[in-house]
Amino acid sequence: MLPIDIDSVKGFLPKHEGEHLAKIAMSVAHLGPLLEVGSYCGKSTVYLGYVAKTANTLLYAIDHHKGSEEHQVGEEYHDESLFDTSLNRFNTFNEFRRTLIRAELEESVVPIVASSAQAGRFWQTPLSFVFIDGGHSMDAALTDYRTWAPWVKKGGVLAIHDVFPNPEDGGRPPFEIWQLAKSSGLFEAEPLFNTLGILRRL
Ligand code: MG
Repeated sequence: MLPIDIDSVKGFLPKHEGEHLAKIAMSVAHLGPLLEVGSYCGKSTVYLGYVAKTANTLLYAIDHHKGSEEHQVGEEYHDESLFDTSLNRFNTFNEFRRTLIRAELEESVVPIVASSAQAGRFWQTPLSFVFIDGGHSMDAALTDYRTWAPWVKKGGVLAIHDVFPNPEDGGRPPFEIWQLAKSSGLFEAEPLFNTLGILRRL
């Protein structure tokens, strides 16, 4: 049971995907800490943070909290209530933090307010589970994949959100990195679960 009503957390992760993600994460969390890229207001963080709490490990939650391209003023997914007038920019960190406090996950989640590349620069910790749900530009998706995929432990899982095999359904970069992972020889892919790509590290 999740610690809060998940519908009260802003975000784009459908419930059935969140639950699937949590189930897979729970099955590998004994191998080490978890990491997600692209926390936004903390919806996936609640699912995965709760897994970390249950498994007595940690979730590292990476997000620069400036919003992706599609969240900026005038763009399709802009949310006016997340525009921080004191900083004059989009800012999801306050809302994210509120989610962690409400869900009582402060002890189980380590927020990292940084870009993926910045956070990964001196990273040294093998991970049981990596969830990539960051920016959907090719550049951002590739950086996330190249930075974090190598840290997934044998038997661990790399999960990628918004994988659309049909280009008419959505942007390509998450699909492209899912393909890269599949052809890397390092991962075995499970059949897509909606738009969730689950790859097990061999
Ligand atoms: Mg997503």
